[in-house]
Amino acid sequence: MEDCIFCKIVAGKIPGEKVYETPEILAFLDIAPANHGHTLVIPKKHFETIFDIPDELLKNIAVKLKHIGNAVMKATGAEGANVIINNKKAAGQIVPHAHFHIIPRFTADGHEWWQGKKYPNGKMSEVAKKIKKALD
Ligand code: AMP
Ligand code: ZN
Repeated sequence: MEDCIFCKIVAGKIPGEKVYETPEILAFLDIAPANHGHTLVIPKKHFETIFDIPDELLKNIAVKLKHIGNAVMKATGAEGANVIINNKKAAGQIVPHAHFHIIPRFTADGHEWWQGKKYPNGKMSEVAKKIKKALD
């Protein structure tokens, strides 16, 4: 992916503040962090979303998220962390190269989470039924 900004960081064509690397995975600091130490973990190979990453690679990434997340919390003194991935524009994905955010969090650091919506009567089990069917 020639015009992908994260592929360019992997290839060393543009700078990235790298913190961890394996032959398959790269972790580097987010340039506009939610909190200092906000780290992005990516597969070096270009995949658009988590749903496109092959299972074995995804398993490797999951284990690395744990390792790198622990290091980020230790290094920043964070009291917690969000590990999130935005998939596709509608979900807030801006860079179309799959990336997991590790965001160190502190009590009352001002970050907002979504407000919980409500299910009208019967809707919750209807939605669960649809998801279960899709999992078959
Ligand atoms: P997302 O909305 O999940 O696609 O998030 C994209 C993230 O990439 C944002 O948090 C940006 O601050 C970050 N970002 C964009 N360009 C760079 C870059 N060159 N180096 C590091 N982080 C970047
Ligand atoms: Zn890419």
